[in-house]
Amino acid sequence: HYKAGYEIVYTPHLGKAALWDVSGHLDFYREYMYAPMDIDGQEYFVKPMNCPFHIEIYKSAVRSYRDLPMRLAEMGTVYRYERSGVLHGLLRLRGFTQDDAHIFCRPDQVEEEVIRAVDFGIHYLRLFGFDDYLLCLSTRPEKYVGSIEEWDRATEALQQAIQVSGLEHEVDEGGGVFYGPKIDIHVRDPIGRSWQLTTVQFDFNLSERFDLAFIGQDGHQHRPYMVHRALLGSLERFLGVLIEHYAGAFPLWLAPVQVVLIPIADRHVEHARRVVSELEAAGLRVEVDERSERMQAKIRDAQLQKVPYMLVMGDKEVEAQAVAVRLRSGQDLGTMSVSAFVSRAVDEVRQRAAP
Ligand SMILES: [Zn+2]
Repeated sequence: HYKAGYEIVYTPHLGKAALWDVSGHLDFYREYMYAPMDIDGQEYFVKPMNCPFHIEIYKSAVRSYRDLPMRLAEMGTVYRYERSGVLHGLLRLRGFTQDDAHIFCRPDQVEEEVIRAVDFGIHYLRLFGFDDYLLCLSTRPEKYVGSIEEWDRATEALQQAIQVSGLEHEVDEGGGVFYGPKIDIHVRDPIGRSWQLTTVQFDFNLSERFDLAFIGQDGHQHRPYMVHRALLGSLERFLGVLIEHYAGAFPLWLAPVQVVLIPIADRHVEHARRVVSELEAAGLRVEVDERSERMQAKIRDAQLQKVPYMLVMGDKEVEAQAVAVRLRSGQDLGTMSVSAFVSRAVDEVRQRAAP
């Protein structure tokens, strides 16, 4: 984010009723907000969105055309009331953290900002191993706020970003929300399910409600364009999608436990512990299975946990200061020195190799 020109911010989890009144949340989003709490006679609400706080940061100083674009990003935790019946694992929660950002820019910067945001989203999705995308553009509905000129300019910028990406897309004519057009990026997983992740959404409503302005080159006040942007969306939901995408068998760089050491008998545990410190020193996430189970049972359990590597060690390995390497697929890679295994694993992590 720093390289992409964002400033990282952290904003409060509570906001005064007056803030949610200006933002319109109390009028239009109340059913998703939790009950207010009274603090010294003032009503506060936990935040269902981060936007008003980023707007407050924007408004904390007079902004000139030279200050724009201003890109504020936050790992922002939000709280939304959902009926208990619709909660669903990691995919639908009452509190979650968004990789949220708001971009404030001049009209002449809209095209570049949108192209950059879409590109940034694809960059992240690719990084995590998604390579099948569908971009959806939602355009102006019958009821809308803002001017036709603003909508046209924003929609053109989104269309241009789609063209630049060269990716498959579809257009939902009139399917946008009332406050601005948007692009959603959907990814398809190996069994054909589609997940909406990245969103780039214009907002002509909040910029109006909060009376956002910048001083132009002409010395007059102008309204900046405001864009909401999330790349992975909710991190919890993204993790759920990732687990589904890989069916739990993460590539090495993402696996929560990358290596399980399996000493065959108690007398091999000491060797295993020495190997652990070598692997951990190389930055690998390691566990030792010290239970007095049979080796086959330990291997089976590690396979069920979809741990990428199992290192088995018995008398032969202890004597040679080596490890017998198995993959979760059951493939046996034979015996190798600890340092040979470390360089293989570290390399695989560095390349973020696919499983
Ligand atoms: Zn927002």
